[in-house]
Amino acid sequence: MADEQPGATRRPLGAATQLVHGGTMRSHFGETSEALFLTQGYVYPDMETAEARFKGEAPGFLYSRFSNPTVAMFEKRMALLEGAESARATASGMAAVTAAMMGQLKAGDHVVAARALFGSCLYVVEDLLPRFGVASTLVEGADLAQWRAAMRANTKVCFLESPTNPTLEVYDIAAIAGIAHAGGATLVVDNVFATPMLQKPLALGADCVVYSATKHIDGQGRCLGGVILASEAFIQAHIHNFLRQTGPSLSPFNAWVMLKGLETLPLRIARQCESAAAIADALASHRKIARVYYPGRADHPQRAVAARQMSGGGTLVSFDVAGGKAGAFAMANRLEIIRISNNLGDAKSLITHPATTTHQRLTEEARQRMGIGQSLLRLSCGLEDVADLIDDLMRALD
Ligand SMILES: *Cc1c(COP(=O)(O)O)cnc(C)c1O
Repeated sequence: MADEQPGATRRPLGAATQLVHGGTMRSHFGETSEALFLTQGYVYPDMETAEARFKGEAPGFLYSRFSNPTVAMFEKRMALLEGAESARATASGMAAVTAAMMGQLKAGDHVVAARALFGSCLYVVEDLLPRFGVASTLVEGADLAQWRAAMRANTKVCFLESPTNPTLEVYDIAAIAGIAHAGGATLVVDNVFATPMLQKPLALGADCVVYSATKHIDGQGRCLGGVILASEAFIQAHIHNFLRQTGPSLSPFNAWVMLKGLETLPLRIARQCESAAAIADALASHRKIARVYYPGRADHPQRAVAARQMSGGGTLVSFDVAGGKAGAFAMANRLEIIRISNNLGDAKSLITHPATTTHQRLTEEARQRMGIGQSLLRLSCGLEDVADLIDDLMRALD
């Protein structure tokens, strides 16, 4: 296999070029598309080579729980996109989040996290980590004073998502990284909603970025996957051995699907952002819409932070429909193109009612505190013609 890093001698390549070519390793067959290596193990030409590889003295693959050529191509391409020194792929976004947290923490440590977390991330912070002696404090992520007040001498990790699910709040990553570092902690950012095209948390001061590749990176609703990105030192200190020994590995098949997904990521995100912005404006001017949540709009509460740290408003739009739960259900049920699903980042536009699906396990009080009312719908904008999407929404509302 040969590493093919085009343009090593030229000016730095653009993201779209890296996403088509970056990380490609061609076998001696010279295949055009990245090869899919569905293999668990590897054979060695002789015992000396096996010994040298196990000692780390010779390059090469050992076992696909921790290294596989197709997975390695995906990791390299993700690292180039994120501007990270190192990347490790995982079986799902939750495997990435769990490893990024557990890999850094031990009994007696403390975590500070924004309350508005993806449901399973909240489970990791609120239920799982405390079972292993790691305490946690949840804060309102937009309130920097709460982050400062929550820091303790034993705080090791700060954790946030931005924009948040489903109310699309935006948190100041650079400021929160500063608070974390002043207290001797690291900052982990779940960057799923922003996507690597629109926001670069490492450049803003975060120590580690995690993705559910299930969402925009696949982008066509097929495979589960995840990625952890950080400096080589961070990966070696906290992630490499944890993944190698516990085994939440990304399947080579799924890595291959994700690699192909990355080739079209810039086109898809640009189109989906454009549609989301147009849909947000169309919804905002409808009399049955009480409120629109979109980080690209001038009425967004953290619009200044969003403008500073994101290069687009994102592919999701949330909104409150008149008539509470009944109004929201009636509208979603009348949609003909947009489908009802809790997934996001897909080529297909998908709508969900968070209060009764993704956030139904929370108490009504907890939902109120997160601004998740019964009238709230979350729309993930797909790749359909935007005129058809707006028409679908307007017909459903009228
Ligand atoms: C989907 C999602 C996850 C979990 O990813 P899976 O691939 O489903 O395990 C974590 N965080 C956010 C923000 C997500 O949207």
